[in-house]
Amino acid sequence: MYLVADIDQDICSGTSCKLCTQYCPEANTIQYDEGLGAEGSKYGSAYVSVDRCKGCAICVWVCDTMAKHHAIKLEMIDKIPEIATTLGMQYTATGVVAERIKSEVLSEG
Ligand code: SF4
Ligand code: SF4
Repeated sequence: MYLVADIDQDICSGTSCKLCTQYCPEANTIQYDEGLGAEGSKYGSAYVSVDRCKGCAICVWVCDTMAKHHAIKLEMIDKIPEIATTLGMQYTATGVVAERIKSEVLSEG
């Protein structure tokens, strides 16, 4: 098990800053989707492809200290209920799909 970045989409979609996407050192790891976020939100949300995330916490610092939105935390990968990967490229709230993607990622790690 290891730590990965987890973005609170409800908080993130309250702003259109996208700052973290510019600072993550791993290519294509934090991405932005206009369709994500809180219901009725004006903006989309950033999300993390956990199979690429190295848990460096740079994005946490950027969101906390630069953007001051406090939307990102590091979390153990097996504790994240909704995850996206570069394989599926989908952020899903359905437990079944999330569990499948999670087991794929964990079996690779
Ligand atoms: S820095 Fe924080 S609020 Fe800004 S896009 Fe990233 S997660 Fe969202
Ligand atoms: S923890 Fe590091 S590698 Fe992972 S999404 Fe944040 S900045 Fe990128």
